[in-house]
Amino acid sequence: MKKLLTALVALLLIAAVATSALAVKMYVINDQAKVRKSNNKKAEVISRLPEGGSVEVLQTEGNWSYIEYVNKKGKKRNGWIANKNLSSTAPHKHTWSDWRITRQPTCAKTGLKEHTCTTCGTTKTKEIEKAKHQWGKWTVTKKPTCAAPGEKVTTCKKCGKKGSKKIEKTGHTYGEWVVEKPATCAEKGVRSRTCKVCNNKETEEIEQLAHTPGAWTTLVPLTREADGERAYKCTVCGMEVRETVKAEPSLARKDKGELVKTVQTMLSALGYNTGKVDGIYGGKLDSAFSQFARDNDVVFAEGWIKPAQLDALVSAWVRSIPEEKWMGANDSLVLTADPDGKPGDVLSFNWILTNDGFDDCTLKAVLMGKGADHDFRGDDVVALMGDEALKAGTANSLGGTFSIPATAAEGADALSFRAVVENDKTGETWLSNAAVYKMVS
Ligand SMILES: [Zn+2]
Ligand SMILES: [Zn+2]
Ligand SMILES: [Zn+2]
Ligand SMILES: [Zn+2]
Repeated sequence: MKKLLTALVALLLIAAVATSALAVKMYVINDQAKVRKSNNKKAEVISRLPEGGSVEVLQTEGNWSYIEYVNKKGKKRNGWIANKNLSSTAPHKHTWSDWRITRQPTCAKTGLKEHTCTTCGTTKTKEIEKAKHQWGKWTVTKKPTCAAPGEKVTTCKKCGKKGSKKIEKTGHTYGEWVVEKPATCAEKGVRSRTCKVCNNKETEEIEQLAHTPGAWTTLVPLTREADGERAYKCTVCGMEVRETVKAEPSLARKDKGELVKTVQTMLSALGYNTGKVDGIYGGKLDSAFSQFARDNDVVFAEGWIKPAQLDALVSAWVRSIPEEKWMGANDSLVLTADPDGKPGDVLSFNWILTNDGFDDCTLKAVLMGKGADHDFRGDDVVALMGDEALKAGTANSLGGTFSIPATAAEGADALSFRAVVENDKTGETWLSNAAVYKMVS
């Protein structure tokens, strides 16, 4: 058994040496002959060889030959080719006759043409593409309308095939809009237009008109403690239109921004723990404010810091600043405040704070007190919170509007205003000059 095996191995070795050593030159006899990755009909085609080209056969296995060939790019490659594509003799170069049409193409069927080698008589056949239909005149079978498409048909003059095409709908041809019911401030109106062709009617709403306001009436007066409410009667339809007058500034739970940050900073400066000074109104700010409210006899319900409560906080904060710092009103910071419009339930002032060469600073609050010479140390200070940066330099200024309920100025012959700013570098607090506004009755 062992002997037999040794003999077999030796035989295989000889065969291998023999095949690899005997490379035979062969010719491709079919055009576009397929070279595959392995000796299998289903194997991947890696190249196609032209008729008449030569290859080196390295090995033959059944109906397949393993060859070396030169590809289109001039590179030597290997692959498998079916033996039927190869011949040991070079094929002769065919001399083809002109193409002859053996079947004319029509619009229904493809044509055929062939040519023959004048030397060996080989004939090759090729298909000719179908001819195009020759459509006749179009006939409208369905007229398009405003809303529906139409159709037209035709017939091929040669094969009788029917063809059809859609005709786009025309769309309505509307006349002018006609007001059916005019709009008022109490009700929406209606208008319509009609198609001149099919009488289709299109209807559309007309927007309600704005009310014509009469004089405002105070329903709930605005205070530093709560929002107010006012109303007017429309002079046309008599309807009552109500409006809330917001108590500003006020803060609610979950509010974010600079004003929240200022409140956190002031409470921290007064020794209350607000947690991180992050400008977000959360639970810690509420509990810090509650503690402050208890210590200062201020009414406070968690979740909403009203203007009156901000006034109390700012007053306490101003009082906590050492006298030598805040008493030294700075001539470089000049505040002016002028009334905006007629006084009513609400007093509005346009203010301008000018920084004339003072350091860069941030406006923290504008304080308002009754009287021409208010010292801003009492509890009756009204705080109008700000949080805008004011940079150093001549006539660099900030401006805005603040509104207070008329009740906050009740009984006063004049109002005084001061701006509180924080020096961006040193963190010191400064007060501007006092702007005085004499009340006109
Ligand atoms: Zn030929
Ligand atoms: Zn046809
Ligand atoms: Zn129409
Ligand atoms: Zn009205």
